[in-house]
Amino acid sequence: MEQISKNVFVETKVRGCNPAFVITSDGVVVIDTPQLPTRAVEMYQLAKSYGPIRYLINTEQHVDHIFGNYYFDEVEHIISHRATFDNFMTVYPQINPYLYAKEAIPTDDPEGASIFPDEKTYFSKPNKPDIIIDGDMEFKVGDHTFQLLWTPGHTPGQLAVVVPEERMMFVGDTIFNGCQTWLYTSNVEQWIRSLDRLLEVDVDIVIPGHGPVCTKQELYVQRAFLLEWVTQIAVAVGKGWSKEECLAKLGFADRFPVDIGQEYMLNDVTVNNINALYDQLTVKMPVMPRKK
Ligand SMILES: [Zn+2]
Repeated sequence: MEQISKNVFVETKVRGCNPAFVITSDGVVVIDTPQLPTRAVEMYQLAKSYGPIRYLINTEQHVDHIFGNYYFDEVEHIISHRATFDNFMTVYPQINPYLYAKEAIPTDDPEGASIFPDEKTYFSKPNKPDIIIDGDMEFKVGDHTFQLLWTPGHTPGQLAVVVPEERMMFVGDTIFNGCQTWLYTSNVEQWIRSLDRLLEVDVDIVIPGHGPVCTKQELYVQRAFLLEWVTQIAVAVGKGWSKEECLAKLGFADRFPVDIGQEYMLNDVTVNNINALYDQLTVKMPVMPRKK
């Protein structure tokens, strides 16, 4: 893992999300867990070497952020938004999360095959969250403050974790930096409002859910890409195109690669994005609850 400050480690270069941990004066706080078994065990051991793991925060429900919880045995509490808890390892028509995690083993983590659990074993101990929140939450561990901001959009239970003492925020998949954006469980209107909300946070460093560590500038880049996606499909809907025509003609395949290890999924991501947006843009958009 890459050490980006005295107290913060992040992994941005292996298949799956960008898991991270923060070392405090009173133990460690983990943000998301690696999808690949070998990486999950390595990160668990490394994090524990700096002190007891007080909290593990899952920023969202997607398998690449939560599957590795299985390997994090000694964690005092696991926190997520209620929507993440409710959708933990939920099977969607587009993706069966357990099978998706399994599919990555031969290519991305062959050494992990021996510790990859069968389905029954996995679901007997998935290490689901035990602290469930419905909005924002703030707490201190040692000298560090952790502000969890509910920033729905990419998924309904999306959280961002702001650590003011490090001048950092971990925004999860609210930012895909330099790689394709996944929209199949997303509400883009909410997502754009959440990006706007994060613009107000006073930090220097942004840890995205995928891609290299960045700055708040990438909030604008992500917003622009979401607007491009919405505009492209909205224009097609306005022209009276069917979903099939959109699938045949649209997409942003030339813009970014899919994140590490998922290059072969470009067509799936494009199809899922078009399907999701077409369905959202051919009905009245749901209304975002007002900010408190
Ligand atoms: Zn995601």
